Amino acid sequence: MEKYIELLRDAMKTKPKSLRAARQKSSSTPLDVYRMNYNESPFGMPPKAAEVLYEACKRPYIYPDWFSIELKTEIAKLYGLSIDNIVTGSGSSTLICMLGEIFLNPGDEVIFGDPSYEAFRDVINDYGATQVPIPLTNDYLYDLDAMYDAISPKTKMIIICNPNNPTGTFVDSAKVEAFIRKLPGNILIVIDEAYMEYVTRKDSYSMVKLIKEEIDQPLIVLRTFSKIYGMAGVRVGYALTSPSLVDYFNKSSHAWNLSTLGQSAAAAAIRDQDFIHEVRDFMEKARKEVTEQLRALGCKVWDSESNFLLFEAPIEPKVIAQALADEKIQIGSPIGLNRVSLGTKEMNEKFIYVMEKLLK
Ligand SMILES: *Cc1c(COP(=O)(O)O)cnc(C)c1O
Repeated sequence: MEKYIELLRDAMKTKPKSLRAARQKSSSTPLDVYRMNYNESPFGMPPKAAEVLYEACKRPYIYPDWFSIELKTEIAKLYGLSIDNIVTGSGSSTLICMLGEIFLNPGDEVIFGDPSYEAFRDVINDYGATQVPIPLTNDYLYDLDAMYDAISPKTKMIIICNPNNPTGTFVDSAKVEAFIRKLPGNILIVIDEAYMEYVTRKDSYSMVKLIKEEIDQPLIVLRTFSKIYGMAGVRVGYALTSPSLVDYFNKSSHAWNLSTLGQSAAAAAIRDQDFIHEVRDFMEKARKEVTEQLRALGCKVWDSESNFLLFEAPIEPKVIAQALADEKIQIGSPIGLNRVSLGTKEMNEKFIYVMEKLLK
C-alpha cells in the first residue's frame, strides 16, 4: 500500500503535517451548549436570506453558477467595485489556502502578527514557507514599525487581521493605510477583515478603499459571511483585489466550490443590510456592557471592536473554562488567556452570572 508514496508530487512528499487537521475536535457540540468560543453569530442569517435558502433547497439538482455572478453583483454593489474585483470561495479560509497555492514557495517569508488567526500559520506551513511572526504590542495592537523592519529580500507576503483574532483589537485604519502605501511594490499585502462589520469606531474604514483607488500594490482584502452574517455553516467567503489577480484564484479554485444554496443565500443576505446593522448595534452595546461587567469583577479586558472579548481573570483560564463548561457554556482559552464570543442577551447574561459566582 505504501507504494503510493512514490506517486506523490514532490511538494506533497515534503509537505509538513497539517496543523489544521491536528487542531480539529472529533465531536460536535450538543445543541443545549452555548458555543461562546467560535465567534459565531447565534442571530444567524437575515430571515429573508433564510427564505431564499429554503427555496433553493427545493432545487438541489441544479449545478451552481461557477462564477457566482448574482452574489458577485451584490458584493460589487455593496462596495462600489466591479464583479471583476471579486473572488468567491467556500469561506475565507479556503481563499487563505489558495493564497498559498498561488504565491508561496518554500523559503518565502511571510510576516504576520503574533498572536493572530491560526489559518495564517497553517498556510505558511502547508507550503513550506517561513513564518515571520511579529509580536503584537502590550496593548495587543499590530506593531507596524516592527513589521516593516522585518521585511527582507525573501518577504513575499504580509498579513494583517483587523480587527485581530484572538485579541478583538483594532488598529487605526489610517495607520494601516499608511503602512500599505509605504511598502515596496513586490510584496503582497493581505488584510483579513472577517470582523470589519462589527467595528463601530468613528474613523474606521475598510482597506477596500485602496482597491477602489486601484493602488499600485498587490493587495487582497478578505471578507466572510461566517461572522456578522451568521452563516458559518453555509461556507461563503470572498476576496477583493485587482482584476488581474483574480484569474490566478480561478486557476487554483476547485470546480463549483460554492453551492447553489450558499450563493443565493449570501446574495439575499447582502440585500438585507438593515438586519446586519441591527446585529452590529446590538453587539456594540453587548461588548460595552460585558466589558464593564468583567472589569467590575477584577478582570483585564482588551478593548474590542469585534463580537468577542479577550480577558485575563484573577484565576486560571482552565478553572474558568471548566466552571463555565459545567454550566454548558464553552469559551476559548487562547494564548494563556480567556476569549468569550458574545451572543444573545440570554447567553451573555448566563456567562456573566457564572463569572460572578466564580469571582465575587
Ligand atoms: C472566522 C475567521 C475567518 C473566517 O473563516 P471562514 O472560512 O470564512 O469561515 C477568517 N479570518 C478570521 C480572522 C476569522 O476569525
